[in-house]
Amino acid sequence: MGDTGAVWRIHAVRYATVSERFRHQNFIMSDDIHERMPLDFFVWAIVDDERSIVVDTGFGPDEAERRGRDLLRTPAEALAEVGVDAAAVDDVVITHLHYDHAGTTAEFPRARFHLQDREIAYATGRHMPEKSFGHAYSVDHVVDMVRHVHGNRVVFHDGDADIAPGVSLHHIGGHTDGLQSVRVATGRGSVVLASDAAHFYANLFDRSPFPIVFDVAAMVAGWDRVRGLAESDDHVIPGHDPQVLELYPRSVEGFAEAVRVDLAPGGPPS
Ligand SMILES: [Zn+2]
Repeated sequence: MGDTGAVWRIHAVRYATVSERFRHQNFIMSDDIHERMPLDFFVWAIVDDERSIVVDTGFGPDEAERRGRDLLRTPAEALAEVGVDAAAVDDVVITHLHYDHAGTTAEFPRARFHLQDREIAYATGRHMPEKSFGHAYSVDHVVDMVRHVHGNRVVFHDGDADIAPGVSLHHIGGHTDGLQSVRVATGRGSVVLASDAAHFYANLFDRSPFPIVFDVAAMVAGWDRVRGLAESDDHVIPGHDPQVLELYPRSVEGFAEAVRVDLAPGGPPS
């Protein structure tokens, strides 16, 4: 990807959370069993004056209930908070097919879904009956995506790809076999939406793997990959870290659940 001159805005919007979660659930090698460490769920919108590209479609009420998550708003409602109409979006990146990233695709009736070849192979393949690999997938979401394949609504990628001027996808793997991160040209340089290449800043910067993992070595290599793709460490946006909402300026005044990660991180929220 050369310098295309493109400059995008990026909103990170929280749609769900889980507060009854502890440190040992977020790091392979934590013995700090009792320290609470909540995890947030986000969708992201990459926008300019002409169009919006959505990254991930989250989950809806059924999955929230099934998994004991606190759904604050549906992903489509979350996007509406930052002025993005899910029904009008043409391009949706699915970073991977886990239940918290690939549900609610019915809310995006016009969209093409950008997915890595290896992710659909993994999500429909031999590893899924194994609980530690399969349990974070919802079979309904995977089947929905297979239907989208047959409906010619999936754009497959194998490795790295530009999907718009200044927006590129990068196969990372690790957490799942086909995980991809998204690099976006912004006014402060290249920002990387890592998605679950790094759930928390601490996975990345303390070099401590998240426990849901297909290939630990690929996950570790992926940390260096996303850091290398980003303008600086301040330009990497983890997939589930509540700190993101604290660090970045609000997208909309008076609404604490959406932030502009294309802008420089500051201090505490305004
Ligand atoms: Zn996730």
